[in-house]
Amino acid sequence: MHALHQQYRQQRPLPAHAPLCLALMIAVSLLSSGCRTTRSQTFSSERPQSHTWATDHFIVHSDDPLLPGDPLIQTLQEVRNQLVSLLQLPDQRDLVHVYLFSDEASYRWYMQSTWRDLPPRRAYFVGTTRELAVYSFRGQHAAEDLRHEFSHGLLHASLQTVPLWLDEGLAEYFEISSSAESHLSPPHLQELADARADGWNPGLYRLEQITDFRTLSQRDYAESWAWVHFLLHSTPAGRQVLLDYLQTLASTRTPGKLLNKLEAAIPSWALDFENYTDQLIASAPPSSTEPTAPQSPRIP
Ligand SMILES: [Zn+2]
Repeated sequence: MHALHQQYRQQRPLPAHAPLCLALMIAVSLLSSGCRTTRSQTFSSERPQSHTWATDHFIVHSDDPLLPGDPLIQTLQEVRNQLVSLLQLPDQRDLVHVYLFSDEASYRWYMQSTWRDLPPRRAYFVGTTRELAVYSFRGQHAAEDLRHEFSHGLLHASLQTVPLWLDEGLAEYFEISSSAESHLSPPHLQELADARADGWNPGLYRLEQITDFRTLSQRDYAESWAWVHFLLHSTPAGRQVLLDYLQTLASTRTPGKLLNKLEAAIPSWALDFENYTDQLIASAPPSSTEPTAPQSPRIP
């Protein structure tokens, strides 16, 4: 298979009611495109390239000027500081390129014309043998999207490999702003509460078998996030299991399963995880009367 297909991964998850959303949004976007015929902008398959902002660890490419103090650049720096510190990652091996489109339409045009086999999503991390690239656009959810996708980029820039569940679990974890309490995700907690009500039987074994991101459900994202939260915050032993595993990922492309390490270090891991998620669910802010919202609308 093409190298890209072996390596590309992570994208924003779809809400459970995605098909309806997508159908509606496709219709809206077509209408919007029609209204834009008088704009001077012409869409192309070019990536943003007029301006760059380079650091030792990442380069932002944009067609808009990138000014010191740009909140999105600050967001990238903040995520990197936090992620590297908390996960004790080794020195970054590769640069991460962040292509920040000026608007959603330009982004979508590029993605659809360049990565034709990727499901349409609001932001992407695409890792190839040529470069590690994050694609996103300036908009309401830019900071949230960049925190998620840039986390993927940083992990792949530092480690030899990253199992899918862990990749997504960590990206979901760091997607939550560090100012949010303990990286708690109300949508994920609601998803887990619903899962509990459905007789959910959490299983890291099952998650570790999944290798195609297109098969991940919203519940899988929530459970992956919960495993990361459990490992990082439940006990020092749990955190050490994760940190040791990340060190293994830095040195080999065949790391084995984390579950084996967890069983050895914490024999009561299954019950502990269930109790921990119950505590998280109980600690969640009172749920609103509205049904669980997707984390954000997704673009087609
Ligand atoms: Zn992702």
